[in-house]
Amino acid sequence: MRKRLWLKIGVPLAAPLLALFALIMAVVLIVATTSNTNDPDQNGQPGYQGPGGAATVSQTGRVFAVDYSVSRPDPQALRDAGVKVVARYLWNGPKGVTASEIAALHALGMGVLFVYENWPDNPLGGAAAGAQDSRAAIAIAERLGVPRGTPIYYAVDFDVSRGQMATVLAYLAAADDTRYPARAYGGVQVIDAYGKPGWQTYAWSYGVVSKNTVFYQWRNGQRLGGGVVDFNYVLDVANVGVWEPDGGVDWGTGGGGRDGWVLPKQANMPWPVSRYYGRLMHPIYHVVTMHYGDDLGGPCGAAIFAANSGVVTFAAYNGGAGWTIMIDHGGGVVTRYFHMPPGGFRVRVGERVAAGQQIGVVGTSGGSIGCHLHFEVRLSGVNVDPDRFMCAHGVKMTTGPHAAC
Ligand SMILES: [Zn+2]
Repeated sequence: MRKRLWLKIGVPLAAPLLALFALIMAVVLIVATTSNTNDPDQNGQPGYQGPGGAATVSQTGRVFAVDYSVSRPDPQALRDAGVKVVARYLWNGPKGVTASEIAALHALGMGVLFVYENWPDNPLGGAAAGAQDSRAAIAIAERLGVPRGTPIYYAVDFDVSRGQMATVLAYLAAADDTRYPARAYGGVQVIDAYGKPGWQTYAWSYGVVSKNTVFYQWRNGQRLGGGVVDFNYVLDVANVGVWEPDGGVDWGTGGGGRDGWVLPKQANMPWPVSRYYGRLMHPIYHVVTMHYGDDLGGPCGAAIFAANSGVVTFAAYNGGAGWTIMIDHGGGVVTRYFHMPPGGFRVRVGERVAAGQQIGVVGTSGGSIGCHLHFEVRLSGVNVDPDRFMCAHGVKMTTGPHAAC
């Protein structure tokens, strides 16, 4: 059919059609390239690993936080959504936090984190700009009664080129103050280069989280509580540096659910479930088979956590499951974790593990076509839908149309 059609169109038409096709492809390529705002000027490295490589994210990586500017979401709605920390601007004007707003957030048990941004490219003013911004930020912090020792995050809100980094570091160094230490908000390279605990945005970060990152912004422009907020996670509750209410923030189990159940994966980045529990086409054998787990797509090397406390009953290579760990939680409940890389285990057979303890890292061993965690839940030896099971225990593993909760 195709050959006959080609003959019908004839050679005179073929050349212009090819040219048109080439033009369309060129436009598609240009659009694809320019819409990659992650690194528009290509001064960073896709696949950047940073001096320390990817972060180790503790189980507290699931603590939910938001930041916002001129929006005023309802504090009660934020708390009901599980927000533990609200990041706010020190600023004299509409985007700035007020004493009454801090009091309202504190009254609901939420901590407040402070950020200063005069103008996005202010850090290019170097030490002089840093000293000036620090004076302005500290004056507001003092007026609001922010306890001394609370860090102020200074925004480096652009894609810093290699040539600009020294100037940006001079800005941060000049902003640093014994009363209110200066920290950075920015892409992975800024957080790596400054070396202090930082607030990293997913932007300009190539999917890599710095080992210095204690606060991670992973999604912008979300509607919550009648306002528009950005979503963040606290990766390190001990070092995030928030102004906590009297009695402190109840950090809880960090997104954990009931009866000790917690997410088996890192949640500092949205990990979709790529394949659900149920009868599915097998990606390698191309036949419909029963898929007994949820495939949580994740970066190679990301941490895998015990979904609950228990005893490791299996830690070995297991055919199509690859390098596999099984945990017996008692009462006939067992969880299984597949496809870890060789050497990817962090626990041994017989070891007792706590809920949320790291047991291994994500890999693609066995019958797998890419790095992911295949996660199973078995009750008395029978597999159940892990997403439904976790939902029933208050743990939301994923979002989207197939999500059980
Ligand atoms: Zn699977």
